[in-house]
Amino acid sequence: MIVAVPKETFPGENRVALMPANVPALLKAGIEIVVESGAGASALQQDVAYVSQGAAVEDDRTRLLSRADVLLMVRGPGADTNFPQSDLNALRPGAALIAFLEPLAEPDLMKSLAGRNLTLFAMDLIPRVTRAQQMDTLSSMAMLAGYKAVLLAAQAAPRMFPLMMTAAGTFTPAKVFVIGAGVAGLQAIATARRLGAVVEAYDLRPAVKEQVESLGARFVELDLKTDEAETSGGYARQQTDDFYRVQRELLSQHLAKSDVVITTAAVPGKRAPVLISRDIFENLRPGSVVVDLAAEKGGNCSLTKPGEQILVDGVTVIGPVNLPSEVPLHASQMYSKNISTFLQFLLQDGALNVDTSDEIIRESLVAHGGRLVNAAVLKALKGE
Ligand code: NAD
Repeated sequence: MIVAVPKETFPGENRVALMPANVPALLKAGIEIVVESGAGASALQQDVAYVSQGAAVEDDRTRLLSRADVLLMVRGPGADTNFPQSDLNALRPGAALIAFLEPLAEPDLMKSLAGRNLTLFAMDLIPRVTRAQQMDTLSSMAMLAGYKAVLLAAQAAPRMFPLMMTAAGTFTPAKVFVIGAGVAGLQAIATARRLGAVVEAYDLRPAVKEQVESLGARFVELDLKTDEAETSGGYARQQTDDFYRVQRELLSQHLAKSDVVITTAAVPGKRAPVLISRDIFENLRPGSVVVDLAAEKGGNCSLTKPGEQILVDGVTVIGPVNLPSEVPLHASQMYSKNISTFLQFLLQDGALNVDTSDEIIRESLVAHGGRLVNAAVLKALKGE
């Protein structure tokens, strides 16, 4: 079996799907690994490093793709909506692609790829279950995004984060408010605390209160009924428009006291909830900074422009996209560990074992045998 690692083509993507360090463990499973020349360069991994770990390097991309039984990528079609047609044409029918695919946002594209008889595994659909922890790349990337979001806020803020007692005066610490305390939010809390800020955090799921407090932040409780806020899988459940309206009003008093607001609220497979609408935005202080990590999913702030930093009424609103790619070394290390663990889990006697009785395989498998096979993607295809 030939496992190929092409160079990423998405503009500004600096990550590589497989790092040299993870090559030997995969080779032990009896496969061959071929890496496109230069694939690891933006993540500081030179071709020679792959060769020294036992992988081959290929200059000709079409040749690489046409020989591949399994393709490992960061951004596959869907996660890269301009994925090169020539790459797709080069792949053999029956080849498998393991990558971020955004299949719930792009179900029609997934159907057409299934029609090419590609086996598709979406790294972004690997369930957050204990058994899959080492494969959970959404958590890895969210952790990096939460860290980086705080650095962006600190960079844009007109004030320092820590308490400073100097001969030229005493400066109080910045007040940071984190909305959504999942993986990205918890890392944002930890990073803001390390920079010396006073941190408050809020989440729909009361279960995270303890985690927030253990990081040294104050948990904000709102007078809202949240006993059914959490799914059995530990994610937030989508709420009604009325719920979100009341929530926005209750949040506004906390926004008014904040120097920095970091929003990370997400409901899997849905558009991000709007928690800062235009009218609520009026409550923010001039000089404050909003970093909206949900920018790619529609934004938690209605003013957010994905990929841009704008100034509205003296408030800076940052809508970062693809933050993990800005930490390419560690992001690639984490992604590579996640994807190589997943591949090892799939391999049995030198072939992919597509056993859908296993929850991890069933939930991440999008297409196989010429058909779309994923229940959530089939629902998305019907617009449900
Ligand atoms: P997560 O599911 O772990 O956390 C999201 C949190 O939001 C959950 O704790 C959930 O309870 C909470 N939430 C949902 N609705 C809420 C509401 N109405 N009010 C308050 N809290 C609410 O998700 P994550 O992995 O931490 O990712 C967070 C966001 O960051 C996602 O939108 C993700 O796409 C985004 N992200 C962005 C980048 C980037 O580069 N911009 C990178 C990685 C992740």
